[in-house]
Amino acid sequence: MENKTSSSNFIKNIVAEDLKEGRVQEIATRFPPEPNGYLHIGHAKSICLNFELADDFKGRTNLRFDDTNPVKEDTEYVESIQEDVRWLGFDWEELRFASDYFEELYDRAVLLIKKGKAYVCDLSAEQMREMRGTLTQPGQDSPYRSRSVEENLDLFARMRAGEFPDGAKVLRAKIDMASPNINLRDPVLYRISHAHHHRTGDAWCIYPMYDYAHPISDAIEGITHSICTLEFADHRPLYDWAIAECEMAAVPRQYEFARLNVTNTVMSKRKLKLLVDENVVDGWDDPRMPTISGLRRKGFTPESIRAFCREIGVAKAYSVVDERMLEHFIREDLKLKALRTMAVLQPLKVVITNYPEGQTELLEAENNAENEEMGKRQIPFSREIYIEQDDFMENPPAKYFRLFPGNEVRLKHAYFITCQEVIKDEAGNVVELRCTYDPETKSGSGFNARKVKGTIHWVEASQAVPADFRLFEPLITNEAEEEDKPFLECINPNSQVVQSGFVEPNMKGIAGGEKFQFFRHGYFNVDPKDSTADKLVFNRIVSMKSSFDPSKA
Ligand code: ATP
Ligand code: MG
Repeated sequence: MENKTSSSNFIKNIVAEDLKEGRVQEIATRFPPEPNGYLHIGHAKSICLNFELADDFKGRTNLRFDDTNPVKEDTEYVESIQEDVRWLGFDWEELRFASDYFEELYDRAVLLIKKGKAYVCDLSAEQMREMRGTLTQPGQDSPYRSRSVEENLDLFARMRAGEFPDGAKVLRAKIDMASPNINLRDPVLYRISHAHHHRTGDAWCIYPMYDYAHPISDAIEGITHSICTLEFADHRPLYDWAIAECEMAAVPRQYEFARLNVTNTVMSKRKLKLLVDENVVDGWDDPRMPTISGLRRKGFTPESIRAFCREIGVAKAYSVVDERMLEHFIREDLKLKALRTMAVLQPLKVVITNYPEGQTELLEAENNAENEEMGKRQIPFSREIYIEQDDFMENPPAKYFRLFPGNEVRLKHAYFITCQEVIKDEAGNVVELRCTYDPETKSGSGFNARKVKGTIHWVEASQAVPADFRLFEPLITNEAEEEDKPFLECINPNSQVVQSGFVEPNMKGIAGGEKFQFFRHGYFNVDPKDSTADKLVFNRIVSMKSSFDPSKA
């Protein structure tokens, strides 16, 4: 990441300066999503930036839906976006919609026409593109550019009245077809679209373009700092033009920052929507999705996402953030909060032959070895337990310290056991182990007559609670995307693997959204949708350890 100390937030310096110089009295920002999909981690960066900036300077932030493209928009998205912003921990001053301003936007467009600053153009989209010129060649004037004010007023009113079909006419700004900035070559301000709008219904059949609606909406709301991503830097002269020519009382200013990109993470709403529509994932909130709702369902906390956004900072230079950075922050957040329990993901039955039949004892276990305040719990132990299949090898390599024939290991929170016999099925698969335990070695008894190198986890068999564990990998890898293959052919077939095993009996009935650290397996979240009283379902948020050091990123 470039220039950590000062890049941490260059916009903050601008705001501080503006307040000091008296250019603004109170700062106002807005988060302006288009309700055409669910929010993703990239949006989280923009949300944190806008809300925290205003908070830092005792200003205000609006949530404004940029709903000027009815064909793609939906109230489902309007609702999910509000839920996600709130969940991240932010509260907007006012909830607004660009569609609230359709009447005023129309009136200001009429003003532009009256001032000779806009005209109705009959060129097709194709013709307009051809006449726009290139970076090295100026564009050509539209033959409709010289229409009179009266004619333009009449045509624009008839566009609104629904007299023309989609695409027949547009309203264009009259700026400069020879401008070195192509955005200023008479950009389209209004288009005809006979589409039903999720809020205004069929009241309108002309809709303002982003480049026109956005600056005017900002000005109407008295936004002082309008923050957007870098692609809009070239649009800034048009932003300023619209505010000046529409004679807006308030004059917001636009600032651009680099959008967030994360390794192995799809960050385009269009592609995410494709994954949903093609049923590659279980909806927008599938735990593999980089959406806020997907991250929430996977088990990320608002704190971890906000800490991540703070750490990556706000820069002008394009960069790609390592996905392990986000994982680092959820580990940090849960380290002292999550209950540490034992789960067996791929069970292998162990019978402890010298443990009395029919006996169960309760062993004491600390809930979080690094946080005493979390107290202790009791876990049952008896003659039959499950261990992890991986924790046994019949013919181990050197330095394998877990269970193998004749070897002794420690059972976490319990006793030392020694593997005496291996039971196999007809196909030769190991199906059960016979072990002996040493009653002297009970955990907490201070036993130190001999040491063992391996400690493994386990769950008592008769009371074990069945559970499914979902383990994730990236949905798609960046490497795969670079191969120029169609996006949907780049899906990682192992993006979700489900294992069926057991958790401790005291986990029975836990609620969706509860988070745990499973000894050696990592952090898991109870899936809020699929987990039931009969079958718990856990999503792995992140594995235990990573070599990743954010201070070196
Ligand atoms: P997409 O390209 O995924 O459709 P978008 O930019 O069109 O995203 P909007 O709903 O218009 O989506 O975005 C709302 C706000 O979030 C905008 O101000 C935009 O700049 C910001 N934003 C979107 N993606 C990112 C990102 N990856 N990093 C930072 N900010 C982002
Ligand atoms: Mg956008």
